[in-house]
Amino acid sequence: MPSAMREGGRLLVVGGVAAGMSAASRARRLRPDVEIVVLEKGQDVSYGACATPYYVAGVIEERDRLIRYDADFFRRERRIDVRLGAEALELDLRRKSVTYRAGGTTEATAYDALVLATGAVPVKFPLPGIDLPGVLFLRTLEDADIIKRTIEAGVERVSILGAGYIGLEMAEAFSARGAAVTVFELLPNVLSTYDPDMSEIVERELLDQGVILHKGTRVEGFEPASGGDRVGYALASGRRIATDAVLVAAGVKPATALAASAGIELGATGAIRVDARQVTSDPSVLAAGDCSEALHVVTGRPAWIPLGTTANKQGKVAGENAVGGNARFGGIAGTNTTKVFDLEVAQTGLSSASAEREGLRVASVRITAGSRAHTYPGGSPITVKLVFDADSGRVLGAQMAGREGVAKRIDTIAAAIHARMSVTGLAEIDMSYAPPFAPVWDPVLIAASEAVKKVGRSPGARG
Ligand SMILES: Cc1cc2nc3c(=O)[nH]c(=O)nc-3n(C[C@H](O)[C@H](O)[C@H](O)COP(=O)(O)OP(=O)(O)OC[C@H]3O[C@@H](n4cnc5c(N)ncnc54)[C@H](O)[C@@H]3O)c2cc1C
Repeated sequence: MPSAMREGGRLLVVGGVAAGMSAASRARRLRPDVEIVVLEKGQDVSYGACATPYYVAGVIEERDRLIRYDADFFRRERRIDVRLGAEALELDLRRKSVTYRAGGTTEATAYDALVLATGAVPVKFPLPGIDLPGVLFLRTLEDADIIKRTIEAGVERVSILGAGYIGLEMAEAFSARGAAVTVFELLPNVLSTYDPDMSEIVERELLDQGVILHKGTRVEGFEPASGGDRVGYALASGRRIATDAVLVAAGVKPATALAASAGIELGATGAIRVDARQVTSDPSVLAAGDCSEALHVVTGRPAWIPLGTTANKQGKVAGENAVGGNARFGGIAGTNTTKVFDLEVAQTGLSSASAEREGLRVASVRITAGSRAHTYPGGSPITVKLVFDADSGRVLGAQMAGREGVAKRIDTIAAAIHARMSVTGLAEIDMSYAPPFAPVWDPVLIAASEAVKKVGRSPGARG
């Protein structure tokens, strides 16, 4: 546990997006006396990376809408000394100081408490041609600016490496800008954290929307267009596929170099190990967001599921504890949702496959039911897959897909998971009903009722 912050002490935060600015803001609210310095190597703070696909698509027109508060707001309104273009290079735990470079000069700054909120970085495979102009990555707002400029310069064909949610959101964004999109995925299915019987719904949507999908396909590299220096071809399965731009969306990894080189412990996931107070192996150093682990409420073990929701909450906890508080982070279920063209897809807890990998006795049900009462026009089917313990009926996870009403219905099941409910309890929840919003038997209740019939009947059975 960090020692109480002394009067007028200094909190240093490295990283100024979701976790970092949440930490700094919480600390300021609790401790007007403390000096708070944020080092951010980029030029933007507190922006919504989650909205960048919609900025690229043109759905969100103004860049400023992605920035919740800018650096000046934090300096002026919250007395937080935000230093942009300031990259932390070295952390000295013994001296309690961080060396950083800003504007061509290098200096060291001491801290009483340090919050590491360095986030994650895209995985960049050493493929031939990966550094060619036109091979793009999306992590920051500046990355989104580059992608936007590339499209506006005229791009007809885009190749996307990776069919995770960022790759698929960007497939929609590029399509919206008139480009023909090809997605390459090494694994046999898109959205690999979903079970194949759910991700195939997403695959159908992609194909219906004109996306060319190459599953189980390894991209071997890129070549420039003939007579040019920009990317012109993606190389896969012995073929050269003509392309005007490439987005590499093949996963992210936690940005842990600063922590690891100082001797801060990493967990088995590769992210920074923290306790429920976000404290690392050094009592004066806390970590939050995509650079750190979080306790998974189903497995009870640390997991690394980098999401903005978690980053904001962990940041708040870290900020409070860094200045002497005693807040705890309640853990994650990995709840996420995404829009793939006209489809809403959502997930919480474990999939059947991941629950089996955990050695749990897994059963599942998969049902399809209407999003609204059948009497009310405009509804559409929602498919719910509910994953539960075959013996006890404990809810382990759920996945959903449909054209409306999915993204928020998943939260009911996330709540059930956090409360360690069984499918019987879930089937008894008093959910709302009115024809425009839901049928009297909501798809979640139907799935839970079907699951109740299976509990104890088919131990270990695969759903
Ligand atoms: C396209 C896209 C869509 C997404 N959509 C969703 C979504 O719909 N829902 C959701 O929950 N999550 C989503 N996410 C994930 C979400 O954006 C991240 O989980 C969140 O940004 C993590 O916040 P963070 O503060 O931990 O890290 P980051 O946002 O990665 O910020 C870390 C910051 O630290 C800075 N930094 C790193 N090292 C140093 C250093 N040595 N010195 C100084 N500064 C440093 C970096 O420049 C960076 O600005 C999306 C992400 C992307 C890229």
